[in-house]
Amino acid sequence: MVIPQIPAWVFPVEPSPGESLSHFLGRFCRENHTTLNQLGEKTGLGAVLGRWEKFRFIPQPSDAQLAALAKLVRLEVDQIKQMLPQETMQNRVIRLCAACYAEEPYHRIEWQYKLANRCDRHHLLLLLECPNCKAKLPMPSKWANGTCKRCLTPFEQMADLQKGI
Ligand SMILES: [Zn+2]
Ligand SMILES: [Zn+2]
Repeated sequence: MVIPQIPAWVFPVEPSPGESLSHFLGRFCRENHTTLNQLGEKTGLGAVLGRWEKFRFIPQPSDAQLAALAKLVRLEVDQIKQMLPQETMQNRVIRLCAACYAEEPYHRIEWQYKLANRCDRHHLLLLLECPNCKAKLPMPSKWANGTCKRCLTPFEQMADLQKGI
């Protein structure tokens, strides 16, 4: 694989603890005024990045692929690996603890784990849809403003509508 030169325009973005790769990629693209397609071209990963954005990690990312991404976004390979799932995922439905989001606005990879249907910090069930209009939650890479894409309810406000456990 040809690893392209790092372009001068890269503005480094620091991952937050437990942040999902999808959310990180969205943030990185917005900070750098670029798109996932362009990142795909520059890293030589092509459409693979689009699969990772949607939490599709089969086939498993190779070390060479992770190294290509790490080089472009100026992180260590280990930092990229920490944003990948460490457990079996429930990856069809995006999940959210709005109370966690109100504290630190980013998507946590652990919410996508198969057995993680609740937030133990807040003793709340995770949201699987907008509690106001029932729309599916957007892909975390698109969480620029952190709102429902249909009714525009801010994620922070959804915490009041989460069911306790
Ligand atoms: Zn929480
Ligand atoms: Zn909504």
